[in-house]
Amino acid sequence: MITISNDDLNVIKGHVKKAYPYECCGLLIGKEKEGNKEVVETCLLTNLNKERANDRYEVDPKEYMKIDQDAGKKKLSIIGIYHSHPDHPSRPSEFDASRAWEGYSYMIIAIANGSEFEIKSWVFNESEKIFKEEEIKNG
Ligand SMILES: [Zn+2]
Repeated sequence: MITISNDDLNVIKGHVKKAYPYECCGLLIGKEKEGNKEVVETCLLTNLNKERANDRYEVDPKEYMKIDQDAGKKKLSIIGIYHSHPDHPSRPSEFDASRAWEGYSYMIIAIANGSEFEIKSWVFNESEKIFKEEEIKNG
């Protein structure tokens, strides 16, 4: 389960809407305890993939490292990644599975027609090589 506030969800939705019809991505920063994650803040990232920005995202490793360090200073860590699926369902693609890490939450924000949202969160099971949906709690 992952808990996220409406404020953080609205920040993410704003980012997704602004990037539409292109895909955007960001990091979920927070705490994890016994499999329960809590988002404390979100961090927008630059999508490095310019060629296929409508259906792929690529994280800048330098940007990622900097955010990871800053989170550590606040005793927080990166608990997941969010990205958008413009005019596509909020289920992970094969491409998403090919680069997924176990332990992270993958929040996917489907946006249709530039304004209708559907948000789901997924965790990757490394041994079965599949994503499983995880509950999102508004907190
Ligand atoms: Zn995707």
